[in-house]
Amino acid sequence: MRVSTPHMGHVYIPFKAIFKRLGVEFIMPPINTQRTLSLGARYSPEGLCIPFKMTLGNLIEAADMGANTLLIPGGDGICRLGYYGKVQEQVLHNLGYDTEVIQIGVSEQKFRSLMSIIRKVSGDAPWYRIISAIRFGLSKLASVDRVERVVQKVRPVELVKGTANQLYSHAISAIDKADDYDTLKRVEVDYINQLERVPRDKQVQPLIVGITGEFYVLLEPFSSFDIEQELGRMGVEVRRSTFVSEWTKFSFFLNPFGINEKKRIHRAARPYLKRDIGGDGWESVGEKVLHAEEYDGIVHLAPFTCMPEIIAQNIMLSTREKIPVLTVLCDEQIAKAGVLTRLEAFVDLLIRKRRAHSGRAQGAAA
Ligand code: SF4
Repeated sequence: MRVSTPHMGHVYIPFKAIFKRLGVEFIMPPINTQRTLSLGARYSPEGLCIPFKMTLGNLIEAADMGANTLLIPGGDGICRLGYYGKVQEQVLHNLGYDTEVIQIGVSEQKFRSLMSIIRKVSGDAPWYRIISAIRFGLSKLASVDRVERVVQKVRPVELVKGTANQLYSHAISAIDKADDYDTLKRVEVDYINQLERVPRDKQVQPLIVGITGEFYVLLEPFSSFDIEQELGRMGVEVRRSTFVSEWTKFSFFLNPFGINEKKRIHRAARPYLKRDIGGDGWESVGEKVLHAEEYDGIVHLAPFTCMPEIIAQNIMLSTREKIPVLTVLCDEQIAKAGVLTRLEAFVDLLIRKRRAHSGRAQGAAA
């Protein structure tokens, strides 16, 4: 079997580590580019969301490189994600590829489903090897996320723009190459130390902007126009609502902390939305309500035609918590230059709002 999975941020790193430990050939498709999106859009049914198009484009690229077993996220939640696997497999067969598409359930019996799929793909490797490989893969994922959290803090205040991004990309490649726990720990500590030492502008108090929205576009920078990096360049500290390592903690292992955090978000959304509406719509509303006091603004990433996020967008407009929200629709028809202009205008608005607020606070104190 030659296994592959489409890119979604750095999720390829744990998959690569797991399959390497199990002796399964893993084919890494090229990172997402305009070619990936064009390929996916050309062969997708009209009106489908960008995660479908991007992952389809990437699956075609992987199949061209010889992959014959393709893993994609799936599930039986309310949105159409559950149909992706069958439709994408059909499209690939129509294009002449002899590939099998396997969906990894991300909403029901997650850990068991992931383990059985990995077992099948590895030709019935013993359970102890599968568990040990998954543990190592998840440790890599956690390292990537811990380094990224520091990068998000350094970007807006670094004196030489681009330093944090450069260190981040070196860290990613070192984590990817690490073959044992000791090396992984050393690499993580080393890059976090380097990031902490990056010279910063100590006078700056960056704006804090939360990034929320649909899972795929939150995690795959190409699909959301590198919005986090661009905000960092504009001097904004980003707080993203989703990190895959945390999500796997509460999704796969039913970690009590993860469950509490999710419950907290749902409870916050409840005055406006009482139940799951599919995808991440419920969480988007909850994030706005929960962090309205803490953030200067929120960027809401929504794939064009994504029903859960359309519902969330409309509710977010009318909550009592009046924090500014910029919804960015992600689609192949939308150009990055247009998104950047809107982002700059949004950041300007937040700067003026903060100045007005601190002016009022000083006036009250005088
Ligand atoms: S949540 Fe929205 S974008 Fe994501 S798969 Fe479902 S419909 Fe598509």
